[in-house]
Amino acid sequence: MAKHLLGKPIIAQMTAADTERCLRLKASGVEPTLAVVRVGERADDLSYERTLKKRCETVGIKVRSVVLPLSTTQEEVLATIETLNQDGQVHGILVFRPLPIDCDQEAIRNAVAAQKDVDGCTDRSLLGVFVNEPLGFSPCTAEAVITLLDGYEIALEGKSVAVVGRSLVVGRPLSMLLTHRNATVTLCHSRTKDLAAKTKEADIVVLCSGQMEHFGKAYFSPNQVLVDVGVNWNEEKGKICGDLCFDEVEELVEAATPVPGGVGGVTTAVLVSHVLDAAERTLKRE
Ligand code: NAP
Repeated sequence: MAKHLLGKPIIAQMTAADTERCLRLKASGVEPTLAVVRVGERADDLSYERTLKKRCETVGIKVRSVVLPLSTTQEEVLATIETLNQDGQVHGILVFRPLPIDCDQEAIRNAVAAQKDVDGCTDRSLLGVFVNEPLGFSPCTAEAVITLLDGYEIALEGKSVAVVGRSLVVGRPLSMLLTHRNATVTLCHSRTKDLAAKTKEADIVVLCSGQMEHFGKAYFSPNQVLVDVGVNWNEEKGKICGDLCFDEVEELVEAATPVPGGVGGVTTAVLVSHVLDAAERTLKRE
């Protein structure tokens, strides 16, 4: 029976550590602040904003919401982000993307200053991941996978890891983070030949393909650790499902993350933790 790698205990550890860090920053005269920029009232954005605010409140971080109407132009959004980039009271900036207006989404993605890019989405942040330097921040989901494995003391050094999915937000940066931790990574995608052979021979498999419950027994072997990043809405079941066919592999593998209850919540906790990193970096620069 596979051990369930739940996000909850890892988030609890992060809450304790981050609440302490927040108190220390406040004692040094810094009020850690996250600015969220939202255009319009899209349900997904509002829901994520609520989750983020709750998490920030839990550890003591201030949230400044900047809400712009759907009539806002690209120039106005960029000007708003630039004002926040220059604001010494703001440590992290999150822009809800893609923006629901006609604009250059790439220009928006790269508008946040790297030192405030707590979402880890700008090219500068990704360069930092590639060269293993803190130029910005790692993409939160990729880092959450590492945080979860570390939390369960699953060693990475010398392990073979198959990452299934090569997007810029998850698979590709994750492959770099794992490489920096001395894992040997096989980065798989939709054109990978004999994918099952690649996943079967790995010690750890990370699924980030967005293919709902696509990966069953045929892809895995005993003693493996599986991390499921997938968040897919299952219309039939009326609930969120991962990329993994959890029921099918439960008897086979050593450990696996459930969906929901695995990586998802850790991702939000990582983002909030980045706000504290950003605030601490400002102290070091003084
Ligand atoms: P994406 O941009 O659509 O990328 C999917 C990747 O999977 C692509 O590289 C694609 O290959 C590959 N792929 C698709 N079908 C495949 C198959 N049958 N076999 C092997 N590889 C396959 O998706 P994403 O943004 O990375 O997100 C992936 C999943 O993670 C989604 O379910 C998303 O909702 C979830 N997610 C979760 C979090 C979280 O916090 N837990 C955060 C972000 C995303 P090609 O490159 O060849 O097309």
